[in-house]
Amino acid sequence: MKISELYAPTLREVPAEAEVISHILMLRAGMIRKAASGVYTFLPLGYRIIKKVIQIIREEMDKKGGQELMLPIIQPAELWMESGRWHVYGDELFRLKDRHGRDFALGPTHEEIITDLVKGDVRSYKQLPLLLYQIQNKYRDERRPRFGLMRGREFIMKDLYSFDKDKEGLDISYQKMYDAYSRIFTRCGLKFRPVEADPGAIGGSGGTHEFMVVADSGEAAIVYCDTCNYAANVEKAEAVPVPVDTGEAVKEMQEVHTPGARTVEQVTEFLHIGPEKLIKTLIYRTETETVAALVRGDREINEIKLQNLLGSVQLELADEQTVQEITGAATGFAGPAGLQDIRIIADTEVMEMRNAVTGANKTDTHMINVNPGRDFTADLTADIRMVRAGEKCPRCEGALLEARGIEVGQVFKLGTKYSEAMGAKYLDENGKEKLMVMGCYGIGVGRTVAASIEQNHDKDGIIWPMPIAPFHAVVIPVSVKDQKQTELAWQIYNSLNDSGVETVIDDRNERPGVKFKDADLIGFPLRVVVGSKTVEEGVVEVKHRRTGDISTVGVNEAASVIRKIVADELAESMPGA
Ligand code: ATP
Ligand code: MG
Repeated sequence: MKISELYAPTLREVPAEAEVISHILMLRAGMIRKAASGVYTFLPLGYRIIKKVIQIIREEMDKKGGQELMLPIIQPAELWMESGRWHVYGDELFRLKDRHGRDFALGPTHEEIITDLVKGDVRSYKQLPLLLYQIQNKYRDERRPRFGLMRGREFIMKDLYSFDKDKEGLDISYQKMYDAYSRIFTRCGLKFRPVEADPGAIGGSGGTHEFMVVADSGEAAIVYCDTCNYAANVEKAEAVPVPVDTGEAVKEMQEVHTPGARTVEQVTEFLHIGPEKLIKTLIYRTETETVAALVRGDREINEIKLQNLLGSVQLELADEQTVQEITGAATGFAGPAGLQDIRIIADTEVMEMRNAVTGANKTDTHMINVNPGRDFTADLTADIRMVRAGEKCPRCEGALLEARGIEVGQVFKLGTKYSEAMGAKYLDENGKEKLMVMGCYGIGVGRTVAASIEQNHDKDGIIWPMPIAPFHAVVIPVSVKDQKQTELAWQIYNSLNDSGVETVIDDRNERPGVKFKDADLIGFPLRVVVGSKTVEEGVVEVKHRRTGDISTVGVNEAASVIRKIVADELAESMPGA
């Protein structure tokens, strides 16, 4: 490919809405363009990278026995009603009607379609297990599309669905995908961590891991152990209770006047106590009830844990008026003692507290010496708090560290959630009808590309890992007006392409500085400069983008030296069998 003909319009300035470096660099390097909020066109360079990632995914899926198919993007609403998700999925589902007024959705994920397909064709245990996948556009009307390919409304996903006879079979399929994902992200040159995660809207109860690329720009917070391999999304991370034992005797509960002290800081300052003496009482509303959730004053509530515990679809803090109706007081003065008509959900640590401070359900008033068990009881006691760095690991004696992560993939044990709702059954060895046991496994292709840039760039541009680079090398003749230089450059270019090194030639009549800048921006792993020295001394300059190392190589060796670097780096990226 000649750069003079390549459709890769590089930009000096990017729109202010591009906040993260991957978005900025892909726009600047002429790899993507925005068509609408969260909807992007891939230009040729961008699409080459996408295809490389897809190819790696495809190879690893096939190796595990995955069979590629293609499911429709337009999905009938009936299937979504059958699974119960037509209503649950909410505004994120792109809905449309056909000319007859029938409802459809643009597929945000394909559990419904594939379960319906398989239940129609699979009758016997002999046809299981099945691993079926596709690589295709997905549609989600995200509330906040942003960060370019990272969170789009139209994006490419690989989704695989496993169908097994039983739980044991699912465990095997899940492990296969877990291993394949580890290989895929290794091959893409990413530093990643699989973490335990919350199932969210996809559902299922069998367990799930997210594959997180560690990057400061990541939207997810993760914790991981400094000693063992425990790692989890903070949404899911298990808290180890640390009771505060002051050795105090139990005292009589007493009302105190605390004018204007609503927040933890205000109350602790007013009463000269530490936040660990306080019980925070938060009033939440779900679609069916109002509840009071209790956590210690030095902790934060984990709304995902609370929502899972309650089994609700919605959960939000109650408004001022509801708080007033339930507690008889303004927000900031709620407490569990004497609270009536609503369920009280306490964090495990709360029930261990002694002589605690709570709101008194009376404006400008708190209670001191509140003792759980004596002064109030909880309807449910469970881990409902956030875990923070420095806390003890739930699996070993180690301590937890915190990092930001980009979720590039997720593996789910769905169990029988969809097969039950949609009646996907098979006949077992004894002719008995059983439900298929399912798993689902997604990888965001564009997000993986963006995550790679977040980890691999410098002030000049992108530094592609060899396996996903749009081209392996660029050949730059310093002066295209010099016929001898041009001739030698073409010679090396042809020789590289002939031997399978994907190479472009920068044949533009531009200053060398401009060409070097573009080469660095686009991020070709290797740059070969053909200049006057090439003509006079028979040597070219080879620059390695990642290390910055420059070496001088004889014209006749150049192609084989580069071929070897490319082959070595591709081989190195391959994890062991
Ligand atoms: P998130 O929590 O980031 O919204 P998700 O958990 O809803 O993602 P999944 O349903 O697990 O996403 O989808 C599988 C994969 O698809 C994700 O791991 C991610 O890589 C990718 N993905 C999901 N949503 C988007 C999006 N809006 N834009 C780009 N990629 C996405
Ligand atoms: Mg996910």
